[in-house]
Amino acid sequence: MSRSAHPAGPRHADVLPEGHYTAPADDLNALDPKVWAHTVGRDADGVVTVGGIAVTQLAEEYGTPAYILDEADFRDRARAWRTAFGTDADVFYAGKAFLSRAVVRWLDEEGLNLDVCSGGELATALSAGMPAERIAFHGNNKSPEEIERAVRAGVGRIVLDSFQEIVRVAHAAESLGKRQPVQIRVTVGVEAHTHEFIATAHEDQKFGIPLADGQAAEAVRRALQLDGLDVIGIHSHIGSQIFDMSGFEVAAHRVVGLLKDVRDEHGVELAEIDLGGGLGIAYTSDDDPREPHEIAKALSEIVTRECEGARLRTPRISVEPGRAIVGPTAFTLYEVGTVKPLEGLRTYVSVDGGMSDNIRTALYDAEYSVALASRTSDAEPMLVRVVGKHCESGDIVVKDAFLPGDLAPGDLIAVPATGAYCRSMASNYNHAMRPPVVAVRDGAARVIVRRETEEDLLRLDVG
Ligand SMILES: *Cc1c(COP(=O)(O)O)cnc(C)c1O
Repeated sequence: MSRSAHPAGPRHADVLPEGHYTAPADDLNALDPKVWAHTVGRDADGVVTVGGIAVTQLAEEYGTPAYILDEADFRDRARAWRTAFGTDADVFYAGKAFLSRAVVRWLDEEGLNLDVCSGGELATALSAGMPAERIAFHGNNKSPEEIERAVRAGVGRIVLDSFQEIVRVAHAAESLGKRQPVQIRVTVGVEAHTHEFIATAHEDQKFGIPLADGQAAEAVRRALQLDGLDVIGIHSHIGSQIFDMSGFEVAAHRVVGLLKDVRDEHGVELAEIDLGGGLGIAYTSDDDPREPHEIAKALSEIVTRECEGARLRTPRISVEPGRAIVGPTAFTLYEVGTVKPLEGLRTYVSVDGGMSDNIRTALYDAEYSVALASRTSDAEPMLVRVVGKHCESGDIVVKDAFLPGDLAPGDLIAVPATGAYCRSMASNYNHAMRPPVVAVRDGAARVIVRRETEEDLLRLDVG
C-alpha cells in the first residue's frame, strides 16, 4: 500500500520522506464525501459543519477532543443495509464497533438486529429496550453468568465458539427449562483483509471451531443431541476492512459443504448461515468501499449458487456489519496544541487527544485522513504527522497527511471515519479522560456518551 508521491509544489516537496501518503488533494479545503459523514460541509466562513452545526460551536460547547457523530448518516447507513438485504435476510449491527443506548434505539427504530459480545454490551442493549430476540450473543469465552443472563433474557441466538460452550449453554438452557437457539461458529480457513484473502486448510486463531479435521461436524453432532439447544445455523466471520468479495465465496463454499454433510448425516437442513461482518470503509480517498446493495447482491448470489450445487434449500442469510455502518458517521474533533517542523522530515502536529481516543493507528498501522476544520486556508500544503499528548512515541493519530502550511495552535482539526473502534477501544492511558460522543442531527446536538471527568477516574481509585 506504500505510495510515494511527488506533489506539485508543496512545502518539503523536494525532501519527502518514505511514507504511506498520497499527493495532497488539489484543494486541501475540500472534504471528500467518501470519507466524511453525509451532512458534513463548510459554511460561508469556511468552518466545517455537520448536521447544520459549526464545529467551532461544538468545540465551544462540548470541548475537545470529542467524537462528533452524524445521526442522520448513521440512520441512512443502517437503513441502507436493512433495505439492501430485504426481508429474507437479517442485519446484525456489531455492537463492539460502537455501542451506546442511543445507538441501540436507532437500530431498533431502523429495524436492525444487534450483536453483543460481553455482559456489558448485553446490559447496554437490554437497558435501551432492544428486544432480546433480536440480539445475538458472541464471544469465545462467555462466562457462566453471561450465558445464564443471555438465556434468561431470551436472546435470539447464542453463537457457540467451543466444545465446552456447547455443553455450558445446553446446561444453562435446560436448567431454565428453555431451548436456546444457537449457531455454531466455524473457522473455514479464510482470512480476508482489504484487497486480499488467504485460504488455508487450518486456521491459527482463537475464534471458532475448525472445519478442518471434522471438528465443526463433530460440534454439530454433539449440539444436535442436546435438548437445551436448537441448532439454527452455522456462523463464519473471515476478517475486517474487506473490499474484495472473493474471500466470502471460499467461506460460503466451505460452510455450505458443512451444511451438506450435516444433511447427509442427520437428515437436517440447517436454516441459517451467518457470514459475519468485516466490510470495509473509506478511511482515505484511496479506499473504494462497496455499497450495501452490491454486497447484499454478491452474498446472496454466492450462497444461492453454492446451495444449488449442493442441492440444499437456500438458508436464510445474516450479516454483521459494524464498521461499515458506524465508521464513516463520526469524526474526531481536536484542537491543535503545538506545531513542530522537523527539517527535511515532516511537521509534527500535537493535538489534545491521541492513542487514548484512537488506538487503531498504533495497533493496526491504520491510515486516516485529516482536515483543518475551524477555517479554510490557501497556504501551501505541508506534510504532517498528527500525534497525541501521551507519553509514548507511538502515539500517532494520522501517520502521514497534508495540512495547510499556516496551521497554528488553537486551530481545530478533524479526523474523519473514527466512528468504529475508536470510542469503543478508548483507554484512560496517562489518566486521560475519554472524550464524549456528541450526536448531531438537524441543527441540534446532544451528548450521547458524556466526557469522563477526574471524578470518574478517582471514583474507581478507592485508595
Ligand atoms: C468484529 C466482528 C464483526 C464486525 O466486524 P466489522 O469489521 O466491524 O464489520 C462481526 N461479526 C463478528 C463475529 C465479529 O467478531
